[in-house]
Amino acid sequence: MLKKLFQSFRSPLRKPQQHVRTTPEVLSSSQHSLQRNQFSRYAVNIVERLQTAGYQAYLVGGCVRDLMLNIEPKDFDVATSATPEQVRAEFRNARIIGRRFKLVHIHFGREIIEVATFRANHPIDDEDEDSNQSSRNESGRILRDNVYGTLEEDAQRRDFTINALYYDPVTERVLDFANGVHDIRNRLIRLIGDPQQRYKEDPVRMLRAVRFAAKLDFGIEKHSATPIRPLAPMLRDIPSARLFEEVLKLFLSGYAEPTFEMLVDLELFEPLFPASNKALEYNPTYTHTLISDALANTDSRVKQNKPVTPAFLFAALLWPALPARVLRLQERGMPPIPAMQEAAHELITEQCQRIAIPKRFTMPIREIWDMQERLPRRSGKRADLLLDNPRFRAGYDFLLLRESAGEETEGLGDWWTEYQEANDSGRRDMIRDLGSKSETGQGPRKRRRSGSTKRKRTGADSSASGE
Ligand code: ATP
Ligand code: MG
Repeated sequence: MLKKLFQSFRSPLRKPQQHVRTTPEVLSSSQHSLQRNQFSRYAVNIVERLQTAGYQAYLVGGCVRDLMLNIEPKDFDVATSATPEQVRAEFRNARIIGRRFKLVHIHFGREIIEVATFRANHPIDDEDEDSNQSSRNESGRILRDNVYGTLEEDAQRRDFTINALYYDPVTERVLDFANGVHDIRNRLIRLIGDPQQRYKEDPVRMLRAVRFAAKLDFGIEKHSATPIRPLAPMLRDIPSARLFEEVLKLFLSGYAEPTFEMLVDLELFEPLFPASNKALEYNPTYTHTLISDALANTDSRVKQNKPVTPAFLFAALLWPALPARVLRLQERGMPPIPAMQEAAHELITEQCQRIAIPKRFTMPIREIWDMQERLPRRSGKRADLLLDNPRFRAGYDFLLLRESAGEETEGLGDWWTEYQEANDSGRRDMIRDLGSKSETGQGPRKRRRSGSTKRKRTGADSSASGE
């Protein structure tokens, strides 16, 4: 199979380090910076117990990679030769879970350690592969993969070289099958094996390449980057529920802004958000500013451990695609407000075919957008009613975002900022002032911007409100 894997490699530039070795490079404790007390003690205990029971077991993946880069790992994964049933037999607090493949979760209070049995890549040369264990579709995409394998095979089926490092906390050695340490030193994301084939097997790897490049501030190695643009449309065939999970990881991990830039550059944004991508083509400056401001604010909230809601994020990602639709419906004779409602409905329905946004988020997206129509209408008791609305904060933050992207609202954001800060009599004056300026209920008419300099309004606190 390896032979087939490398048949397409003709370029003299290609280095042999694409190979997964059958014997790894072994780094002793003096040759790497990892220390066993940097790892979760539960994960270390699990590895020790599995080894004592006679199995192979290692810490693997993101935790080894991140600690080598002095980044605090998100979680600790264990890989072992024991089957899920064998692992469960060793630990009372273990549960077998299985979505795409069977895994064991071992619970220690709130911490969960994921233990995965070594797996192999698909036997693609086999005509009569066992369809219960593995299957691919015509384009080469893996549909199920529950084929257990050896440690070497497990290293080979992993996505990137930097994700295929195994740490043994007992001997304190690192096993490197794919020159991952070299790529960590050179800050490179490099697929293991033939990039085109590996992306075809699982197109989500293209998104993962971008996610790790943005998070780690790594480059994507040339041969791993080149196939992405031509293969990007393959993301259209990925189940929408899986894409929802991936998109959350892309945009809620604290690196959404650089991730967005890279997705656009590598043409991965189009298959994820087709309507927004069109808006990006027709109205590049506004669309780009609105989305990247929203993402930058989200990043800064994530880094401050403040809550963020996917609803605000999706509301911003999709908003630039709305006007063209509203206009089209209006041209067919629909009045503005129903046209807006209908356009919002259509857009969200279409988007959900690509990315399955759950209802608990689509409802607040609609509410944030509805709020944009209501914020200009402030006369009488309306302003106070809006202030009491649980979506007010998100709606107001969204208004500021639109303004900072260049939308003209005749100072509406400033008005609301002032209104929130004013005392009762100040508020009454502001409403009276509106009346004398003939607020029609359709939007702000003659109000001047308060002050010549804009207030600072798009700071970290003012968007992606985590309610
Ligand atoms: P983080 O958890 O910090 O996002 P990670 O590398 O741990 O990063 P996970 O999604 O938790 O990423 O996956 C754990 C490991 O499983 C990865 O390091 C990689 O080796 C392997 N892996 C995950 N997804 C894939 C995939 N689609 N194809 C091949 N290997 C994968
Ligand atoms: Mg992980």
